[in-house]
Amino acid sequence: MAERKITIRRVMAGEREISYQLERKAVKNLNLRVREDGSVYASAPRRVSAAEIDAFVASRGAFILQAVARMEERQRRRALLEQREQLRILGEERPLVLRRGDKLALFQEGEGFILQVKEPDDPVQRQKGLERGLDYLCQEIFQGMLEELYPLAAKQGAAKPLLRIRRMKSRWGSCLPGKGIITLNKRLLEAPRGCIQYVILHELCHLIHPDHSKRFYGLLAAWMPDWKEWKTRLEETVLL
Ligand SMILES: [Zn+2]
Repeated sequence: MAERKITIRRVMAGEREISYQLERKAVKNLNLRVREDGSVYASAPRRVSAAEIDAFVASRGAFILQAVARMEERQRRRALLEQREQLRILGEERPLVLRRGDKLALFQEGEGFILQVKEPDDPVQRQKGLERGLDYLCQEIFQGMLEELYPLAAKQGAAKPLLRIRRMKSRWGSCLPGKGIITLNKRLLEAPRGCIQYVILHELCHLIHPDHSKRFYGLLAAWMPDWKEWKTRLEETVLL
């Protein structure tokens, strides 16, 4: 097999320089293409002079630069698809991998999480997808924890509350005892499980004692003797 003879050549197309690979081959005509990675390649028969090829490449300058830009953009998008980000869930940093898919989903896979969105290369869509995915995850995790903890409040005669999840600026949770609604801050998802349990217990406790009276704290301490440590840990871990 004959050794491939490829040289790198540079031509000016207006203000911009184009560098291309030139291969001499037994071809009839001069061929020019922009590869997937954005590199420019030309093959030409030996009878055509290098100067002629340079002139041809330069004459197609605008087209080449456009194609290069397009390929580079495609590469960039592909890289974004594989882009890894971090997600803090239940007090642990987990890798977040973006994936293209028709159905929006955020799910655990191995050590990390997969965020599936239609247009992962669109930052607005990606952020929206992530927020909605986190809403689902909060709903699932917080509701599960509420189910586990509610029996404590049930013993005190409290009806099962409805769970709402919101992004709140200055508090971890709130309780409307009259309406039987507990609202939890979405950002609690970043905190360790014990911190979330502390907030849920605090709000459940309000179903029985709507104030912050001694009786309130008495019951809270009976449910969770180390609640103060979890409160401190929460305040240190997640800054509102
Ligand atoms: Zn309170």
